[in-house]
Amino acid sequence: MKLFHHLELTLSSLVFPLYCPACGGYWIERSGGICSDCWSNLPAPGRGRWFHEPALKGKVSAAFHYDDISRNLVHLMKFRGRIDIAREIGVRAADRLKSLYSQSELACVIPVPLHPVRIRERGYDQSLVIAESVAKALSVPLIVDIIRRTRNTPPQSRLSDVERISNLKDAFSASLIDQGTVSGTILLIDDVIHTGATVMGCIKTLAKSGIKNIRILAAFG
Ligand SMILES: [Zn+2]
Repeated sequence: MKLFHHLELTLSSLVFPLYCPACGGYWIERSGGICSDCWSNLPAPGRGRWFHEPALKGKVSAAFHYDDISRNLVHLMKFRGRIDIAREIGVRAADRLKSLYSQSELACVIPVPLHPVRIRERGYDQSLVIAESVAKALSVPLIVDIIRRTRNTPPQSRLSDVERISNLKDAFSASLIDQGTVSGTILLIDDVIHTGATVMGCIKTLAKSGIKNIRILAAFG
């Protein structure tokens, strides 16, 4: 009986793990893939390096500060296929945006695109999942084909500031948009914003297609 009970616990812990993947603490209460303590411990965003970038002034909001817990969550999303965490982050990022400004000006939500090769490697696109969740929470359409990655660039996190900018040269292309289709502000969604080089690359590309009314919402920054 004791052995059966032990087996049952072991099997159930495989299906329903006993520990929070973000902090390693024993589950007491969970939602969106991590424990409620981890969600409530995520700090409000400060002024990251992107804040001082003139081209992004007044355009960027981040839902949470990028710290040790955030780093864990990003790792779980990017490399462990934790779509549930990405979805919940989208809901919370939308809540953050609602507290900052009215969403009535928003025409649509678009994700910072990932190259198809990287999507195949990871199995899914975490910025797209976050963007889907934000769009649903704000009741704003999601449009995924306005901007694309044309080059599979090395990860920005391994590069210096100067390399980050040259790494993204000609990395994106945008569809020519009928201005009647997208009248209003486009909300560009990224998972993490560090220096802002990636979103600036997207902004430049979108501007060439005539889209200049852009706001950026990053999950972490
Ligand atoms: Zn936790």
